[in-house]
Amino acid sequence: MLAADHYDRLVNDLPMPQFPPGFAWGVATAAYQIEGAVAEDGRTDSVWDTFCRRPGVIRDGHTGDVADDHYHRWQEDVALMADLGISAYRFSISWPRVQPGGIGKANEAGLDFYDRLTDALLAAGITPIPTLFHWDLPQPLEDAGGWLTRDTAARFADYASLAAGRLGDRIETWITLNEPFVVMAFGYALGMHAPGKALMLDALPTAHHQLLGHGLATVALRALGVKQVLITNNYSPIWPASDSAADLAAAGAWDTLQNRLFTDPVLLGSYPDMSAFGLDIADVDYVRPGDLAVISPGIDGLGVNYYNPTRVSALADSPLPFQMEPIDGYPVTAFGWPVVPAGLTEQLVQLRDRYGDRLPPLYVTENGCSVPDEPAADGSIDDQFRISYLDGHIRALAAAIGAGVDVRGYLTWTMMDNFEWAEGYHQRFGLVYVDFETLRRTPKASFGWYRDMISAQRHGASLA
Ligand code: BGC
Repeated sequence: MLAADHYDRLVNDLPMPQFPPGFAWGVATAAYQIEGAVAEDGRTDSVWDTFCRRPGVIRDGHTGDVADDHYHRWQEDVALMADLGISAYRFSISWPRVQPGGIGKANEAGLDFYDRLTDALLAAGITPIPTLFHWDLPQPLEDAGGWLTRDTAARFADYASLAAGRLGDRIETWITLNEPFVVMAFGYALGMHAPGKALMLDALPTAHHQLLGHGLATVALRALGVKQVLITNNYSPIWPASDSAADLAAAGAWDTLQNRLFTDPVLLGSYPDMSAFGLDIADVDYVRPGDLAVISPGIDGLGVNYYNPTRVSALADSPLPFQMEPIDGYPVTAFGWPVVPAGLTEQLVQLRDRYGDRLPPLYVTENGCSVPDEPAADGSIDDQFRISYLDGHIRALAAAIGAGVDVRGYLTWTMMDNFEWAEGYHQRFGLVYVDFETLRRTPKASFGWYRDMISAQRHGASLA
């Protein structure tokens, strides 16, 4: 593996190159973060609706009740996307809108919303790429055990069939899960996200059941004629804090948990070595004979969400044998996340080196930054920080392609400012500024930059 400073030099030396013809440029969003209308047209609670009502868990008590009101303003949002010139839009389908309660027949009114959205996107020349699960599990399923329970995997496949049964005639590419690692780690192990359980290592069955859900849903989608099925994971290059054996082992353990636990079973049909956690997967009762075959029917592409590398050191006498260390020497986003474009090259190259022929084409399904954007007196939002973030990461992506990694698309996070989970409306990740009082949308400078970059790519011009 090449050292990070090598990638820095590599990236800085490159002019913005021409990406391969047909490369998909787009944006990504998620239902609970933008839709609002949480009790309309038959939608019932997801775990996030319930979690947001718990005092103290979300900054300033914010909720997704209204969010960007995209459920009512979707036409304006599609028009903005058309203006941006994107060729692909990744959004998520709200499970409790389509199948309230998570069991039984579809809620046709909920499906109607995605039906209209799909037609509008296609009419605008934008390929819709839905994610079936971006964290909004129907609350009744959580009450029955949520992802700790095996049955949730089967429920998920049924819901996938309902969604694809309606939209599969027009949508070719589907993503099953978004970042199952975050659901396990933040939702069930640490409790910072819904459903707010702090089970530490006892959260591990949620990994297996989500993976099982992915496998069952993949088969269900293909049975309905879906051409491409992806799963999206969040990857992070893991940097040991020192060369000591203990820190290297700690980095290996975190790498297993974040980068391999949700990828090896899907691509290789086997779990990684989990001995760093005192665990032998062959011995756990929730992994049943035949499950790994169910999890690995093959995928047609892998979604890669990249935000930053992770630096870890060893932590003695702890069930989780590592701790996070700061990464100094880089700019940081409003969230405090280090901006390391070269980490994207490193991550993509590492996936290729790790999985070789087993790796399907990659799609960057999220990458972006939060900035404390505020309109100037004339109403404009000059987010130069985001422009250089995007510029750096797109160059880093080009470097990975140049190194022979098969990457087919880049979908930035995110179209417009939205509900940023436990941070409420405090972190602005959008290309479009949203005034959360009036819900007025104003494209930021980065919107214009991205539009021009896409247009230059489309017309074969290379941006210096
Ligand atoms: C998630 C998004 C989130 C973004 C920024 C990703 O982990 O998929 O929903 O808004 O990161 O935190």
